[in-house]
Amino acid sequence: MPVNSLYCDVSLPVPLDQSFTYGMPETLRHRVQPGCRVLAPFGTRTLTGLVLKTHSNPPPGALRDILRLLDEEPALDAELLQLGKWIADFYCAPLGETLRAMTPLAGEIRRGKVYSLTKSGRDVARQLHLGSSEADDPAATTLRMLDARPLSASYLKQKVQNGAAVLKSLEKKGFVEAEDIAAERDPLRASAERLRIEFVARAEKLPKSERELLSYLELHPGSHNLAEVEAFVAKASTAARSLARKELVRLTVEAMAENHGPIRTPHALNPQQQAAFDCIRAALDRKQYRTFLLQGVTGSGKTEVYLNAIEAALALGRSALMLVPEIGLTPAVAGQFYQRFPKRVAILHSAFNDSERAQEWRRIRSGEAAVVVATRSGVFAPVSNLGLIIVDEEHDQSYKQQETPRYHGRDVAVMRAHHAGAVVVLGSATPSLESRYNTESGKYTLLELPQRIERRPMPQVELIDMRQEFLETRKHATFSRALIDAVTARLANGEQSMLLLNRRGFSSFVACRACGERVECANCSVTLTYHRRDRRMLCHYCNYSERVPERCPKCDSEYIQFMGLGSERVEAELNGAFPKARIARLDRDAINGKRDYEIILAGFRDGDYDILVGTQMIAKGHDIPNVTLVGIVSADVGLGLPDFRAAERTFQLLTQAGGRAGRGETPGIVLIQTINPDHYAIQCAAAQDYQAFYEKEIHFRRALNYPPFAALANIIIQGRDEEEALSRSAALGRVLQPAPEGIRVMGPAAAAMARIKNEYRFQMLLKAATRKRLNQVLGDLRRFANAEKWNPTSLIIDVDPMTLL
Ligand code: ADP
Ligand code: ZN
Ligand code: ZN
Repeated sequence: MPVNSLYCDVSLPVPLDQSFTYGMPETLRHRVQPGCRVLAPFGTRTLTGLVLKTHSNPPPGALRDILRLLDEEPALDAELLQLGKWIADFYCAPLGETLRAMTPLAGEIRRGKVYSLTKSGRDVARQLHLGSSEADDPAATTLRMLDARPLSASYLKQKVQNGAAVLKSLEKKGFVEAEDIAAERDPLRASAERLRIEFVARAEKLPKSERELLSYLELHPGSHNLAEVEAFVAKASTAARSLARKELVRLTVEAMAENHGPIRTPHALNPQQQAAFDCIRAALDRKQYRTFLLQGVTGSGKTEVYLNAIEAALALGRSALMLVPEIGLTPAVAGQFYQRFPKRVAILHSAFNDSERAQEWRRIRSGEAAVVVATRSGVFAPVSNLGLIIVDEEHDQSYKQQETPRYHGRDVAVMRAHHAGAVVVLGSATPSLESRYNTESGKYTLLELPQRIERRPMPQVELIDMRQEFLETRKHATFSRALIDAVTARLANGEQSMLLLNRRGFSSFVACRACGERVECANCSVTLTYHRRDRRMLCHYCNYSERVPERCPKCDSEYIQFMGLGSERVEAELNGAFPKARIARLDRDAINGKRDYEIILAGFRDGDYDILVGTQMIAKGHDIPNVTLVGIVSADVGLGLPDFRAAERTFQLLTQAGGRAGRGETPGIVLIQTINPDHYAIQCAAAQDYQAFYEKEIHFRRALNYPPFAALANIIIQGRDEEEALSRSAALGRVLQPAPEGIRVMGPAAAAMARIKNEYRFQMLLKAATRKRLNQVLGDLRRFANAEKWNPTSLIIDVDPMTLL
């Protein structure tokens, strides 16, 4: 770093493709480094930007100074800065916004209070979401805002009328709680989930909530998790902190490894696992970039291979990063890592609060934690001396970010490893077509685990043709006779069943039998889903809700009907069919945050339930030995979608769901109900035959020129004004006329979802023979939009889209 540079170039989170030069005040000149964040004036605003470089070449024109330096150490090191530039370029995203996404908190210590909802606050907020919009007072607004995420006091005071008073009254009612995030290790400030509480002494004259908590603890000796105590004692969290200050209870921050399930001893690898591991270790030893695809059937023991690979990386003095899908990071998974690598593991989990994440971030940067387990954005964790990146369930859609920068975590991981000379292991039972194709073209190396551990049989899969079922029974039943029989047998044997339906809610839509009208969302062009518990129809895109009409809004007939099936209805019907069974449901409506998800799942694992009903949430990686039946209520839900990945996704879902059966000693069966029993995705899933599916699907992709044979970009032009959005899409279409060489253009046309959240949407799809060409053309489109001064949110460019909807 040149000493005492006079200027710095700063990238700001604005949708412009340029950096901005600022002067540096005398006092900062020797402290500002590339990768540090600074506060900089921009127009009338103050923005947090990232320093790209420092220099002493005076820029032309007037110059403003940066206001403050936020990091004494760079938030992004040179390697991550380079990665950020690659992402901005590859995914056509502004650099400033990309860098901001890479530094969620990056060691910043933000001082002040942060407010979040208490449990009762969450209940109230939920009611508000569902209720009509009359309750629009400042308190309601605050609760709604906090339902999305915790917010700082200063922000809330700015946004909410009379904010200070409103917060104070909400806090008094026990709907919100404040946390001071300045000091992190202080137990008074950790979240309830991470605290253990213990009785110390009795006292007189305590407020009611403290008195209750103290007597609960006295009656239940020993240490308890505070979040669990909250279920029995109202306001336990707040009361606990106050009691701790009075030294009447002891609060300790739970080492994250505690309460993470039984100790598992490492297994000796079987020969296939050993062979795969040997290849990975050899690559680690060479210290060169290489990507492996570890394709192992469900239950083949991929995790054990990962753990050994991580151990090998650590032995070489290098660190390891393991990415897992959004909901794959359960305490059970984390527990395995804590046990195997005590004190070396950091977890980046969205259930942690900001200060906990900042703390993990620091442990990683200091090198204390050399094993990082994280979801998508953890690919930016500041690990030094990176040796290994594992991407578990690499086919999972949650690796693709759905907002700017729209990067794919798996592909960024490969690029990061490339820069760092590290080894990548992509693991899956159902690899994406792209990754598998890459092993054939020689870009990646294929490692296979073709058998389940201990040669346990693959589940036996049976297709049930629901058309035939109807012909034989003359009834439109949700469950076939075979499925009913199978569940009955499981109940009799004390074994567990999982039933999967890829749709939440009670019915999929509400329609008029007289005129065929379907009730649509007021803001989006999608039908509303009926949720019985709340007696309302809900939009799954924007959360709009309304009461079920008594008469058809179009023809005024009273023949309103609920059509289709949702997970809530499946649960209700199951309760009818099996009144004695203990049934739990897992979908986005049944749970309230990560914790509920884990509680239901842990309860099922512990045998508290006989049947678990759910959406695709239950299909992922869970290893529950007593599950011997998996039923797919309807395999057809995703097949009809106008998306070239519909077959791939259906195959993956069915195969993964089937993989949950028979993972213990008792073999399992899978029953798939379908009206498309001849579809190749369903046939191949039933045969658990990835290879056959791959060959069929890759043939279609090649013929139709879809990925991996073309680079794809989905372009959405959107706006509140339909006319304007339409004319802009036409203008953008003309930029691509005649189609540039090496590019095929489809559209513009109305998007499959023509309206979402009141934005009218038009769509174009670009297929390019090469990445380079695609990138050039997308650059042209962005320059056009900038020159025309379009609002930056009106043009969305999605490179390598996971969905075309
Ligand atoms: P996958 O992720 O491939 O579906 P897991 O990694 O969950 O499979 O392994 C399935 C089960 O087999 C787990 O309970 C795991 O502890 C166990 N297991 C893994 N490797 C071995 C081994 N070599 N010997 C015995 N059991 C093993
Ligand atoms: Zn009607
Ligand atoms: Zn909507």
